[in-house]
Amino acid sequence: MTHPAFLPFTRPMIDEQTIDEVAQVLRSGWITTGPKCLALEAALSERWGGRPVRLVNSGTASLELGLRLCDIGPGDEVITTPLSWVATANVVIAVGATPVFVDIDPVTRNIDLDALEAAITPRTRALIPVDLAGLPVDRDRLYAIARKHQLRVVEDAAQSFGSNWRGDAIGAIGDLVSFSFHANKNLTTSEGGCLVLNNADEARAFERLRLQGVVRHPDGGMDVEAWGSKANMTDVAAAIGLGQLRKIEAFNQHRRSLAAAYFDQWDRSLDFDLPERDEAEHGNWHMFQPLLPRRMIGRRGAFIEAMKAQGFGVGVHYPAMHLFSAFRAKGFNEGDFPVAEDVGARTVTLPLFAGMGADDVGRVCRAVSAVMHSLDSGEARA
Ligand SMILES: *Cc1c(COP(=O)(O)O)cnc(C)c1O
Repeated sequence: MTHPAFLPFTRPMIDEQTIDEVAQVLRSGWITTGPKCLALEAALSERWGGRPVRLVNSGTASLELGLRLCDIGPGDEVITTPLSWVATANVVIAVGATPVFVDIDPVTRNIDLDALEAAITPRTRALIPVDLAGLPVDRDRLYAIARKHQLRVVEDAAQSFGSNWRGDAIGAIGDLVSFSFHANKNLTTSEGGCLVLNNADEARAFERLRLQGVVRHPDGGMDVEAWGSKANMTDVAAAIGLGQLRKIEAFNQHRRSLAAAYFDQWDRSLDFDLPERDEAEHGNWHMFQPLLPRRMIGRRGAFIEAMKAQGFGVGVHYPAMHLFSAFRAKGFNEGDFPVAEDVGARTVTLPLFAGMGADDVGRVCRAVSAVMHSLDSGEARA
């Protein structure tokens, strides 16, 4: 029997047609921002009900420039979740504002909206909700709170491309919506991101923030009225995105069927806490993340190593970020957000990506069972 190749927890799916189209861009003589970026912006705008969409070179840039667009800076507080990729809070620090964390809901693992409302102060200016693993934050409740307290929202939808809230696509609704096209996301441009905006004025202001503050004059001259970053996307990257866009519905449908297979084949006697089942199909199954049994706290590394030895990649997304040194230095401590800490200490990301075969889920489930039995019996012997 041949041994199956190592199965990583995720892998981008770039087809040959897309590779050819990237090669055409490289041969064209125009490799930075150009017609492919415009085409991708137009396609995304059409997808999201005609709202303006502007590409940037990362999801981090779209979040940071989104905050700057809302004029958020020193003295302002921005409320977000401690259970996300650290970019979510780093951008708040980058603009000179103060990140305020509130704990998560143990079921959805997204920000707890009751705790969020309780954390609002006169200094609160914006909210950054995160759709962890692509499962959307409740948009009805979120925007009821934002309207009541007159707060801007910069949605961190890095993980929720193709997700929906009660049938409306994430991106088509809400205030500013930020996506990432990092290699691990459901739709990739290798690196990249975009911001969905409310109107043409915002889009123009965002274009300036994206590229050195430059305003072009019809006579060939230019002006710079205010600071701008350097965050434009290249046509090389946009060509990848256009190729991905042809497949994204199929990718996400396949992810949903793989998640369903995990729920069907998972050994419930192992005492993991499975993610929310998402019966309403709001999510895009960006990741499949069971929580290790509590008896495994502190031994996640052993689980990951043992899975690797069996041929399976396991990720961790994410440890609660308020416990990182840079955030502890700002006064955050253990015990501040117990639910996020518990989830962050036990979460493991198992293989789930559009290129997986139907039998791969069964193989992962059997490996998890074998690894847990061996770790538990090792524990018993010790
Ligand atoms: C990936 C990600 C980001 C950052 O996106 P980049 O494109 O890597 O800059 C931000 N927030 C979340 C939740 C992410 O998953």
